Amino acid sequence: MSAAPLAIDPALLRRYDRPGPRYTSYPPAPHFGPNFGAAALRDAIVESNGDPIPRALSLYVHVPFCASPCFYCGCNRIITRDRSRGPAYAARIVRELAMTGALVDRDRDVVQVHFGGGTPNFLAPAELAGILDAVKRHFTLSPRPDRDISIEIDPRTVSVDDVAELAALGFDRASLGVQDFDPDVQRAVNRIQSVAETLDVIAACRANGMRSVSVDLIYGLPLQTVTSFSRTLATVIEARPDRVAIYGYAHLPQRFKAQRHIVEGDLPAAEAKLALLACAIRMLTAAGYVYIGMDHFALPDDELARAQRHGTLQRNFMGYTTHAQTDLIGVGVSAISHVGSTFSQNPRELPLWEAAIDSGTLPACRGVWLDADDVLRADVIQSLMCHGSVAIPDIEARHGIEFAGYFANSLTQLAPLVADGLVRIERDRIDVTDVGRLLLRNVAMCFDRYLETSTVVPLSRAI
Ligand code: SF4
Repeated sequence: MSAAPLAIDPALLRRYDRPGPRYTSYPPAPHFGPNFGAAALRDAIVESNGDPIPRALSLYVHVPFCASPCFYCGCNRIITRDRSRGPAYAARIVRELAMTGALVDRDRDVVQVHFGGGTPNFLAPAELAGILDAVKRHFTLSPRPDRDISIEIDPRTVSVDDVAELAALGFDRASLGVQDFDPDVQRAVNRIQSVAETLDVIAACRANGMRSVSVDLIYGLPLQTVTSFSRTLATVIEARPDRVAIYGYAHLPQRFKAQRHIVEGDLPAAEAKLALLACAIRMLTAAGYVYIGMDHFALPDDELARAQRHGTLQRNFMGYTTHAQTDLIGVGVSAISHVGSTFSQNPRELPLWEAAIDSGTLPACRGVWLDADDVLRADVIQSLMCHGSVAIPDIEARHGIEFAGYFANSLTQLAPLVADGLVRIERDRIDVTDVGRLLLRNVAMCFDRYLETSTVVPLSRAI
């Protein structure tokens, strides 16, 4: 993608603003079924050990607890201020790591460990240390310098000293929830967070040698205006985080209870929401950030931007990553794993997850075995989401198909996107244009066989 500021046509974006998956997986999680359990995950892990070239691993640790509810939140989280829940949760994570680690061959390096939530720093540094120790005991942590150990941090509940402890434990990447600095917006979403405490945490991450700091913002929140949001953006840009994620707020109160506290009349209308997105793109690209894809921007020398330039960018449940083709093992309540050609998920309910761990059983309770069509479409969608292009001969060679015939229906669906200048189709390749990259989900949706049945679960909109 060119570094020039993106030209945005609001009428065009509005036309494509319809619900769709975020494609952190294909098929998306709502299509996981209930007949995939502990035995299936165990078999998948054991089978994945048999690959002729040992496949590296990513580990995801889900920590569900948060001290207070942000009203916009759609995550699987448990609101509590009772810190005494931390040690028991961490102890069960250690047991789950022991169970999964026992199945994985030790010649398979762990190249990425990510703690997400919820609020991972709800756990005290000593509890996080216990989990990292278990990772080292039960898996082989890669010695490579590009190995990542990352954590999502809530700047409201972490001290500068905590950040120093996290860095000393080995965390080298942090992503900070910010969303918006405007006091009215913060009150409307029940997330009061000062600029000073946020900047202190960013400074502490850097002072303690973390390789990368990322900031998450949300557009489309109640009471947001272009003027107020541009102040937030200016503050963030001045702090110069390596990565910035700008997520669109998805108002789905029928699905997420906390969102019922949001006054619908305070939400920006579609036109205003687009203006917020346009403002973010304009300011970030003008400040030198490169658009990576979906909601992500990075400084040009950040590893994600470099991976995008070199064609090695990947995408998994944790978002964009530089680590190629790893198997992902998720531990903790609701965590998702992607092993070989399977996806699976742990129970979303804490008591069910706890009961499985206490009985010495892998807690996976739903999932899916990918068939050849899933693997093929996942490959095409991954290529679109990460590189904004599909090399047709490569796909044909990898999957033994004739692209034009196999994807005749998808190519028909792409025709209006071609006419609107979002996509270019040539004999050997499909390329998403710069403007089309703002609508990657819409492009990917043309290759999604499951979309007809997705209405069971409300999806967020493309913008
Ligand atoms: S946005 Fe983050 S901190 Fe707020 S409730 Fe959701 S998971 Fe917790």
